[in-house]
Amino acid sequence: MFNNLSDRIAASLKGLRGHGRLTEADVDKTIREIRRALLDADVAVPVVRDFTGRVRERALGEEVSKALNPAQQVVKIVNDELVEILGGATGELTWAKNPPTVIMLAGLQGAGKTTLAGKLAKWMKDQGHTPMLVAADLQRPNAVNQLQIVGERAGVPVFAPEPGNGVGNPVLVAMNGVSTAQFQQRDVVIVDTAGRLGIDEEMMQQARDIRDAVNPHETLFVVDAMIGQDAARVAEAFRDGVGFTGVVLSKLDGDARGGAALSITGVTQRPILFASTGEQLGDFERFHPDRMASRILD
Ligand code: GDP
Repeated sequence: MFNNLSDRIAASLKGLRGHGRLTEADVDKTIREIRRALLDADVAVPVVRDFTGRVRERALGEEVSKALNPAQQVVKIVNDELVEILGGATGELTWAKNPPTVIMLAGLQGAGKTTLAGKLAKWMKDQGHTPMLVAADLQRPNAVNQLQIVGERAGVPVFAPEPGNGVGNPVLVAMNGVSTAQFQQRDVVIVDTAGRLGIDEEMMQQARDIRDAVNPHETLFVVDAMIGQDAARVAEAFRDGVGFTGVVLSKLDGDARGGAALSITGVTQRPILFASTGEQLGDFERFHPDRMASRILD
């Protein structure tokens, strides 16, 4: 990931070395190169505009003119601003004061929600939590079964619809799932919901109904990083249609350019909390903006 972007930013910053003092023309040339590299990495235009504006302002400000090594200062500024567009500080999950913490997953079909549900549950279990998964995606024929399989792999119980538990009614399934988790004294409930291939009102309405019924502490929007800056557009639709508190980037292993990671927080103002990096349960990590920025600049 970020290979091309990383090489191009490195090359353009290298061009500043050896300059005792940076002229406005030096800075502008570097910024032009970085702007092109970001656009080629499929970063959303407004994010690129803000980013380059801030780098330019700081690079031409006092910060650099007083510095001993202006080239290094520009590298630092670019690093700081990359951390900023990736979300700033590492985001944290909100935990309920009175468990269970209810986490709802939302996103398009195929985004990686069901896979993520298993990964998140395992990650929590490994930290000593007692999660339960709830199969409220009744849209995709195999979704319930798929969640049962990942739950089994993760060693986490799955609440699935069965006669009397609200077959065909995802809102009832979600509610029954949460109350079962409460009854069984589980401290986290992860509710998988249905997506569709494109943004549609019925999907949003169902997600809102589930949200209103279970009142989640966190709603995580799961998005396929391979769709690049389109991820930010889909995220805006979900933010406005359902609302969410954090983002999970899935399929980061298949994303060579990095446009989703670099666009989504700037566009939605919501932190990326986790990254999903493969099909296996362990292919999952916390998302650290500072480490991501270092990966770009290394
Ligand atoms: P859902 O419809 O949102 O529940 O999506 P799924 O969890 O069923 O995932 C859709 C497809 O993407 C499946 O084939 C998953 O194995 C695959 N997938 C999910 N997450 C990742 C990931 O991080 N990396 C890769 N390479 N594939 C993934």
